[in-house]
Amino acid sequence: MNSRTLLQIAVDHGSPVYVYNSEKIVSQYKRLTNAFNKVKQVKINYAVKALSNVSVLKLMNSLGSGLDTVSIQEVKLGMLAGFSPENIIYTPNGVSLEEIEHAASLGVQINIDNLSILEQFGTKFPKTPVCIRINPHVMAGGNTNISVGHIDSKFGISIHQIPHILRIVENTKMNINGIHMHTGSDILDIDVFLYASEILFETAKNFSDLEFIDFGSGFKVPYKEGDIETNIEEFGKKLSKRFNEFCKEYGKDLTLAFEPGKFLVSEAGYFLTKVNVVKQTTSTVFAQIDSGFNHLIRPMLYGSQHEIINISNPKGRERFYSVVGYICETDTFANNRRINEITEGDILAFKNAGAYCYSMASNYNSRYRPAEVLWHDGKAHLIRKRETFDDILKNQVEIAL
Ligand SMILES: *Cc1c(COP(=O)(O)O)cnc(C)c1O
Repeated sequence: MNSRTLLQIAVDHGSPVYVYNSEKIVSQYKRLTNAFNKVKQVKINYAVKALSNVSVLKLMNSLGSGLDTVSIQEVKLGMLAGFSPENIIYTPNGVSLEEIEHAASLGVQINIDNLSILEQFGTKFPKTPVCIRINPHVMAGGNTNISVGHIDSKFGISIHQIPHILRIVENTKMNINGIHMHTGSDILDIDVFLYASEILFETAKNFSDLEFIDFGSGFKVPYKEGDIETNIEEFGKKLSKRFNEFCKEYGKDLTLAFEPGKFLVSEAGYFLTKVNVVKQTTSTVFAQIDSGFNHLIRPMLYGSQHEIINISNPKGRERFYSVVGYICETDTFANNRRINEITEGDILAFKNAGAYCYSMASNYNSRYRPAEVLWHDGKAHLIRKRETFDDILKNQVEIAL
């Protein structure tokens, strides 16, 4: 999307505002399915938690995507957006048996990630097909915040516990129809991923009634210049070949499933904010925007570096800025960043604002969550209104004091 279009959206819808370009979502979806076109049955289940606006989910549905959900509320959002339950996989972590039963009663694919629930669920509902989330203990990336496959991770059932899984399955006669892993949020190295896949194939051989193998996600997208991104085309070629070989060995065409979040929506998103104050200090120039980690927490939570452009002055000379927010907390979005000269009132656009941005927003400092706009077919569609004071008060109960 160009600066002029984005600027017009900020004028029409105010700031701060999230904007998503549907064209980019569609092209990423196609890139992924094309990369695996040598596999007979491929299923993309979009990870709802990345960006859960119902209109975005409807777009995913129109593409033929399924959904990966982590809460009963995400399941309900998906069904509201028109997904049939068979196209939804439910992959919770540490939720109650009651919630899992609720999801199962709606007819979605259940994915279980601990032995306790596996035994309880299998005993109660031996006929309901269940997928098992395995932890292959493979480190993906170096940041422990986003590596969920390593030995101390809370996610998945350890591959060292396969004998215990098998004992539960045998005792309950439950129906295991899928094997799943989700190693972490960044695949930096294809070989590491392929190595984890081999572990999954080995595990799969223990189950005779599988319908699918779910490789989770972790596709890396570039955030700043020089970032490496997962080479989807090369990855698709290599994994497809191995997957097809495995299906032959297994004696059945299984479905290859993925559940990307970031890959599909990250680059489609822009977060537009207005500069309230340009503040010179003895050591730097701060550009203070009408936002904070209440709207975009990834830079503070994960150290993510979102590229920031001054769309009000895209040709201005470049200067160094520290971009910070307006909440009473250290909320630094960028340090010593080279940005086209900023004047108070300018609109700054954060790139890669599609995934884990709005969905992690809060009302901290009693601020409103921003509006969301979908740029679709050459038009800006408001898909979520900016909150109002009523939203802040909505569930508060005033007592007589
Ligand atoms: C969050 C999550 C995903 C999506 O991860 P991305 O890095 O956004 O692609 C996929 N599967 C599961 C189980 C998840 O929790």
